[in-house]
Amino acid sequence: MSYLVLARKYRPRNFSEMVGQSHVVQALVNALTTQRLHHAYLFTGTRGVGKTTVSRILAKSLNCTGVGGQGDITAEPCGVCQACRDIDSGRFVDYTELDAASNRGVDEIAQLLEQAVYKPVVGRFKVFMIDEVHMLTNTAFNAMLKTLEEPPEYLKFVLATTDPQKVPATVLSRCLQFNLRPMAPETVLQHLAQVLNTENVPADPQALRLLARAARGSMRDALSLTDQAIAFGSGRLDEASVRTMLGSVDRSYVFRLLDALARGDGRTVVETSEILRLNGLSAASTLEEMTTVLQRMAVLQAVPEMASGDDNADPEIAETARLAHILPADETQLLYSLCLHGRGELGLAPDEYAALTMVLLRLLAFKPSGALAPTALAPAAQIATGGSAAVSGKKPLAELAVRSQVESARASAPAAAPAIERVPEALQGAPAEVVTATDPLESSRLGDAWSQIVNQLAAAEAIAALTRELALQSELCSQEGGVWSLRVERESLSQPAARERLQTALQLALGDPLIKLSVEVGQVTDSPARRNGIALTEKQRAAEALIHTDPLVVDMIRDWGAKIVPGSIKSVSS
Ligand SMILES: [Zn+2]
Repeated sequence: MSYLVLARKYRPRNFSEMVGQSHVVQALVNALTTQRLHHAYLFTGTRGVGKTTVSRILAKSLNCTGVGGQGDITAEPCGVCQACRDIDSGRFVDYTELDAASNRGVDEIAQLLEQAVYKPVVGRFKVFMIDEVHMLTNTAFNAMLKTLEEPPEYLKFVLATTDPQKVPATVLSRCLQFNLRPMAPETVLQHLAQVLNTENVPADPQALRLLARAARGSMRDALSLTDQAIAFGSGRLDEASVRTMLGSVDRSYVFRLLDALARGDGRTVVETSEILRLNGLSAASTLEEMTTVLQRMAVLQAVPEMASGDDNADPEIAETARLAHILPADETQLLYSLCLHGRGELGLAPDEYAALTMVLLRLLAFKPSGALAPTALAPAAQIATGGSAAVSGKKPLAELAVRSQVESARASAPAAAPAIERVPEALQGAPAEVVTATDPLESSRLGDAWSQIVNQLAAAEAIAALTRELALQSELCSQEGGVWSLRVERESLSQPAARERLQTALQLALGDPLIKLSVEVGQVTDSPARRNGIALTEKQRAAEALIHTDPLVVDMIRDWGAKIVPGSIKSVSS
């Protein structure tokens, strides 16, 4: 006997075998039991969730004659009478399946409707099943309306579509509509385990989880993938071969990346990205897996008790919960959004791994400042305490700032200096001497601090014109012994006058008259202006995403053909 693929072999033959669609099954069973039948049904749902299957079971229920041949309409088709067997094998004359995707025109529909005038040949009812009904042309829809509204008593319509939005309202209003849901991975997992048990195919639970996830809610896809996996793994399903077959990224890399991002550990991020490249693992599916894990983390953060409802045997649950605990909720949201948008960029870059690294590093760059986990700051703090004896003569900036404020208050002098809200942490924690540009982390902390100071000076209007431009365009390369070394790209910004005005503004703002500025010309990689630019772009992108997903806008585009004029969306505060 030839091998029957799993998806066909395990296609449900009656309502009780249907998996994961109990809300639809319940309604249909009740209707059949009480014989309150509608003349047209519309089943909606993504591919592989059971639209055609429900339609066939419904046709059997309507036409089943029972084991003894005396049966009536039933919610439990017997499966052995002539009608049941013929519908199962696809040769029941009164059950017609038409695929509207390949029969879109008015002629095909007219041909079908011509059959409607004849009574059923063998069955109780004629059933017309039109799949992908949204593909019909408008004239075809119009040709169908009359019959759909008042069909002969012996005729039932079953329409199915993956895209109900495209079905005209005139058709929708004449049908009883049921939405078949995509199946949850747990539901698919259970069903797969059951099927493989019946088939006597040994399978790792983790391999089944991968297949269940890859099916994206479609039981048919899950069974087809399982067929492939059985062939691929020559008769058994183990995690490694299923992973290879699906081309999916080992989640341990994903967890390592997320953990490194949570700790602000750029080195591990870059190294892991390099490992992905060496192993030829897809950059796109890495980002996709990351979004999946981040989504789970966000759910756990919002509803911690959801953890207990999960598949407890899954070792990934514990790791997800741990990450959900160490990464703040707002950063989880930010990472999710960046990963999602980052996927679109992969194709634009000449090298997808370079693009992946950029996306991952962007996640670090946009980490809210001061949000580094305690472990990441520990080395700097140690240096700070270790070095304090050697530089005890020098007072930390913060202390100076506070003292000068107290003194000026005591002298009740008019506050000439624009008050800086708070001295950035990077400049408080460690004595100035130990902060140099050699370490990338230190350098980014300098960047954070510089950006914050400059933006506050600009907001307080303590700097203007060329001085402001110098501050915004410069990178703070080091800060040693009270000398702050700035670097700018344009010679015109390194004029002594602007430097002196900026120096005075800093001395006043930080209450430290000893601050000296030096300005050199060279390549700038991190300036307040650049940071502001990136933040603005991100804000603009968020504003655009907000408009594009706004329900009102979506409705207007769909119903009225409205268009968004490119470039017309502006973030309100910018
Ligand atoms: Zn039957």
